[in-house]
Amino acid sequence: MSILIYIDHADGQIKKSALEAISYGAALAKNLNTTAEAIVLGKVNEDLAGLGAYGLSAVHQAADEAFDKADAQALAKTVAGVAGTLSAEVVIFAANANGIALAPRVAVRLKAGLVSSAVALPDTHTEAGFTVKKVVFSGKAFAHVKINTPVKVITLTGNSYPAQKAAGTATVSQLDLHPDLSKVTITGVQKVEGEVPLTEAEIVVSGGRGLKGPENWNLITDLAHVLHGAVACSRPVADDGWRPHHEHVGQTGIQIAPNLYIAIGISGAIQHLGGVNRSKTIVVINKDPEAPFFKAADYGIIGDAFEVVPRLTEAIKAI
Ligand code: FAD
Repeated sequence: MSILIYIDHADGQIKKSALEAISYGAALAKNLNTTAEAIVLGKVNEDLAGLGAYGLSAVHQAADEAFDKADAQALAKTVAGVAGTLSAEVVIFAANANGIALAPRVAVRLKAGLVSSAVALPDTHTEAGFTVKKVVFSGKAFAHVKINTPVKVITLTGNSYPAQKAAGTATVSQLDLHPDLSKVTITGVQKVEGEVPLTEAEIVVSGGRGLKGPENWNLITDLAHVLHGAVACSRPVADDGWRPHHEHVGQTGIQIAPNLYIAIGISGAIQHLGGVNRSKTIVVINKDPEAPFFKAADYGIIGDAFEVVPRLTEAIKAI
């Protein structure tokens, strides 16, 4: 019996969300009096033994570069196979794009109950059994869901459990496993250069229709630049072609939970809030004091973005 955590990585770097999933899995393993192990598919440029500092006892790597060309179906087959070999009791993924694609496929293969978007460690001590707290209704409420199957699969919401580093070393084993590329092969990936991925960003600066047009987006990108943050937008901004669709956050876009979310010229419609309201701190800049976003804000500035934002950017530059 063990807990198995899937280590998601990009460009050879382990993602922050994967480190959170590892710490979460390690804490769960402690509660269940078992060990936390991890699986990494493909090559990474990091010291895998060093992941013991996050509480892992073992890391199993299948380093075949062909895993970069494998789709979710093929990756899930490998993860489920390793989970079976290790008799993993719980398999954990970060609730990012890859984790969301893999978890249900792995759950089907393992005949496991799945809880997506967990926000806290499972309650394993009470009569409730193995109960997981998760967000529902676009972050408006929490549900406590009991998993009844012997094997369980969980995806962990980003920024809901901190990556905790202490001391320790994990054993690293190499697996002679290769993906099944017979059905689908990824032939190329088009990357957006030089940007912090939205789901990994600690700080996100986001613009809405209040910016009037794409020609004014330097207000958003300049502020994001000085804060080393990522850029996001509301849906109409992407729909109107002012910004690319991969920046659109909300119920129908990317769901994020950064430490700081700065919303500029965004009204705060429920569908927008559904994707950002788990941010740790929300700052709203809007010229309309009645804008609904102010109700969800920790800090608000009532003012014209064209006056406030350049002054804010200059002030931060001067620090
Ligand atoms: P607006 O509603 O036009 O608001 C612009 C804001 O800018 C106003 O509050 C105004 O006071 C302010 N403003 C104007 N000028 C200035 C200035 N100079 N300085 C400062 N402030 C200024 N929306 C999303 O964002 N994400 C989603 O995922 C999403 N999914 C949806 C799904 C469905 C099924 C539906 C029906 C809608 C969805 N929407 C989504 C759209 C959503 O309902 C809103 O229409 C949208 O979020 C509004 O975008 P906005 O705030 O940028 O624009």
